[in-house]
Amino acid sequence: MTKHIFVTGGVASGLGKGITGASLGRLLKMRGLRVTMQKLDPYINVDPGTMNPFEHGEVFVTDDGGETDLDLGHYERFIDENLLRDSNATTGSIYSSVLAAERRGDYLGRTVQVIPHITDEIKRRINALAGDDTDVVITEVGGTVGDIEILPFLEAIRQFRLDVGRDNVCYVHVTLIPYIGPSGEQKTKPTQHSVTELRGRGIQPDVIVCRSEVAITAGLKKKISALCDVPVSGVVNATDADTLYEVPLMLHAEGLDTEVCSILRLDDSVADLSEWEALVRRVRDATRPVKIGLIGKYVALVDAYLSVVESLNHGGFEHGAAVEIEWINAEDVEGLLATGRLADLDGIVLPGGFGERGVEGKIAAARFARENALPCLGLCLGMQVMVIDYARHVAGMDGANSTEFDPSTSFPVIDLMDTQRDVTDKGGTMRVGACVAELVPDSQVARAYGQTVISERHRHRFEVNPKLRAEVESAGLACSGTSPDNRLVEFVELPGHPFWVGTQAHPEFKSRPNRPAPLFGAFIAAALARAEGRRPHLFELPDEPDQEG
Ligand code: GLN
Repeated sequence: MTKHIFVTGGVASGLGKGITGASLGRLLKMRGLRVTMQKLDPYINVDPGTMNPFEHGEVFVTDDGGETDLDLGHYERFIDENLLRDSNATTGSIYSSVLAAERRGDYLGRTVQVIPHITDEIKRRINALAGDDTDVVITEVGGTVGDIEILPFLEAIRQFRLDVGRDNVCYVHVTLIPYIGPSGEQKTKPTQHSVTELRGRGIQPDVIVCRSEVAITAGLKKKISALCDVPVSGVVNATDADTLYEVPLMLHAEGLDTEVCSILRLDDSVADLSEWEALVRRVRDATRPVKIGLIGKYVALVDAYLSVVESLNHGGFEHGAAVEIEWINAEDVEGLLATGRLADLDGIVLPGGFGERGVEGKIAAARFARENALPCLGLCLGMQVMVIDYARHVAGMDGANSTEFDPSTSFPVIDLMDTQRDVTDKGGTMRVGACVAELVPDSQVARAYGQTVISERHRHRFEVNPKLRAEVESAGLACSGTSPDNRLVEFVELPGHPFWVGTQAHPEFKSRPNRPAPLFGAFIAAALARAEGRRPHLFELPDEPDQEG
């Protein structure tokens, strides 16, 4: 019987519910349990694919092409399992299913209502993840208890325990214990109110995870226990951590996995923390400074590039480097070039994006990196601007552009494929999800990956134009990876440059803290070589500083 854990949040948003759930998932995995995770999102968009990353953070992409909430990225990075489209359900997608069934006549003339039809569909989505090959499903309910939008989700998870039995469900509630400066006290009242609200929906939490700036006292734990009717062992403190990846160890020390396993009658297992402890040691030891410019359009919201930032950090862990990110608005690049600020960087990343704003700045940055031996990693749109730069400034294709930005350019080096041309629906029309690529043996990318057949996730409409590819290649840009039929360019690189590599894919979605995406590892190695003034020689682990003399 698959066990279910439901994670809800109280008091405030942004408490790190996703990280808490993902950390719990990792701890259960360390106990030898097979874990999967799911996010239920209260918004009405059918998926986050059409949402502005500036408002909602990045769209995370799964292997099967799901455009999902960024919390799935945390889940994958922590539990180290590939999730699927079904691991994210929004109110919009749930209503879509119910409305489609209603139109088909599946409800046989009955009145279709939130209870039971919407709640049944929510339960169906949760159950869909359970199965013989899964011991535990962790389901995070987005939003905060008290929001109008999450009521159907709370009702569904309340019913769920009745459906599958008490021992098979555990409710974890994540709340905030604020510190009130003038009185010098940590306050439990918001937690009490939030638990009361949850109880008003018929859910008594089994575990309360209290987020706080500094540790809460044993006395305070007792008080929360008594007032919220949760045993002291179920009051778990999660203080602000120095690094994200310490959270599982912190929650383990607080007894979270032990408590949850005892509630779910899974307490015969012991957690083997060794791999994660080694990771946290590597994170702490990663101190060699390396400064990376992230040149984007949504730089005011760090979450818009969450997976890219995490992948850079992962590359850093591999090489003992502490990655410092300089957030650079693409629209400011041309001005910054004059100030020499880009030359101070050890590497630049050109991330993905949509729309014309900032594109000329990205092209200028790609050119600067190319001409100044500055390591540069282009991701999706980032690769496209590298091709545009090369076409314009080396291949002599004046005014070369993507037809996304200039439909009448005389050199459309980036263009829609015929199959994409007549699509008007904004949802689900992209090349999205895992695609296999074949790499040219001995190319920089093949050496970075250590193999020549690879798979990465995609999310884009435009491609390198096959009609102009040969012309750009003959000017010296190497297309070092393509789709197996050689029709689509997947990777480009510049022979002789320390690292000027672009990919049409989004390798950031597959990077894991103890297994960085290969291109990110190689990119950080090149940036580190520049930072430490060594001759940049890629794909060799940089020497340890103490061996350098
Ligand atoms: N806008 C570009 C395209 O649609 C790039 C997309 C991206 O960077 N994800 O092809």
